[in-house]
Amino acid sequence: MNRQKSFENNQPTLYLVPTPIGNLQEMTPRAIDILKMVDYIACEDTRTSFPLLKHFNIDTKTIAYHNFNEENSSKGIIKLLEEGNNIALISDAGYPLISDPGQVLVNEITKHGFNVVPLSGCNAMLNALVASGLIVQPFVFIGFLDSNTTQREKMLTNYKDLPMTMIFYEAPHRINKTLNSMLKILGDRKCCLARELTKKHEEFIRGTLSELCELENLKGEMVIVVEGKQNDYEINDEDIILALKKEITEGLSKKDAIKKVSKELAINKNRVYDLANNL
Ligand code: SAM
Repeated sequence: MNRQKSFENNQPTLYLVPTPIGNLQEMTPRAIDILKMVDYIACEDTRTSFPLLKHFNIDTKTIAYHNFNEENSSKGIIKLLEEGNNIALISDAGYPLISDPGQVLVNEITKHGFNVVPLSGCNAMLNALVASGLIVQPFVFIGFLDSNTTQREKMLTNYKDLPMTMIFYEAPHRINKTLNSMLKILGDRKCCLARELTKKHEEFIRGTLSELCELENLKGEMVIVVEGKQNDYEINDEDIILALKKEITEGLSKKDAIKKVSKELAINKNRVYDLANNL
């Protein structure tokens, strides 16, 4: 067990600092303060982060934290923490660790007993999810699928029965192939493609996978939000009534039984509610 009271000890700290995904106004005052206060800023790419730091007059020393060599980079950062330094980790944009480097470092740091303190802020998948028009909870964040079609379709096969909304990241040069793989493996589901979030050309394309496959020349940074598997009508009413009766016999109120059954069977609460009313 590892308990961290973030602001009640004097341990050196790694701050996880999100940075804007397109709109510089989304940099928070706390993020700027922390980046000015720490001894080092570990960057995914120091050259990419330079303009951002310059814009906010942050002249803290930067060091590189590489995706392709997380183990070695982590060792260097642990050493700096052992020497009493505070460090902030930033990625090129958005949250560190979310489809970006940092996972190995956070694991190592918690093992060594130093603090890991996350700041709130920008992240592409949440912007896309909340504006998608699809059911927001529960959701699962998948991130990037494999660039190889066989591997990508294998991954999608693993996810195709998930009943929750799924969120994917994709690069523009692969978007058409990916949408076609999704249509092939997941079927023609509702989806939303969110482009250029927080930027001048921000766009939400809400429709079905087959409609999105028709689009050409999709450009910019993009997130794909796809509806989860709709189980409702594969589960018949008798099964739902049986599950409700079981929960009620075991002591749940009707209200709690409705909640539990709709969650466990991943079916619409209104349908369970209507059936429960006839019990
Ligand atoms: N760490 C970032 C985050 O918290 O969202 C994600 C970094 S990942 C390497 C880059 C991918 O995030 C892009 O290929 C795209 O799928 C998504 N992304 C980043 N910025 C975006 C934006 N402004 N609009 C849409 N998608 C974006």
